[in-house]
Amino acid sequence: MARRRDWEYTDDEGETPAKPAVPCWLCARPMGEKVEWHHPIPKSRGGRDKVQIHPICHQALHANYTNSELGRIGDDVETLRSGEAVAKFLSWVEGKDPDFHAPTAKKGKR
Ligand SMILES: [Zn+2]
Repeated sequence: MARRRDWEYTDDEGETPAKPAVPCWLCARPMGEKVEWHHPIPKSRGGRDKVQIHPICHQALHANYTNSELGRIGDDVETLRSGEAVAKFLSWVEGKDPDFHAPTAKKGKR
């Protein structure tokens, strides 16, 4: 079973994938097997950068911010992190395995 590491696939031409330890853009934990890409600035606003993010973080981001909020905040990740629900999510997810994924992450169980 081939273990696909998405950071080996870069569409920046000529760039070699010598960056195995890029942490998640949102939670700063190491990335796991599954990597999703988030556009901090929507493509519709001319954003071209994309960042690595855990699927669960991606989900949390889009669950707590609308696309227009995300577009307004852009790549100011500190602002995104300091949103109340996201801050809660981050402290909750902090000790989890990088590949941990809960489809319904909204239960108040501790
Ligand atoms: Zn993350």
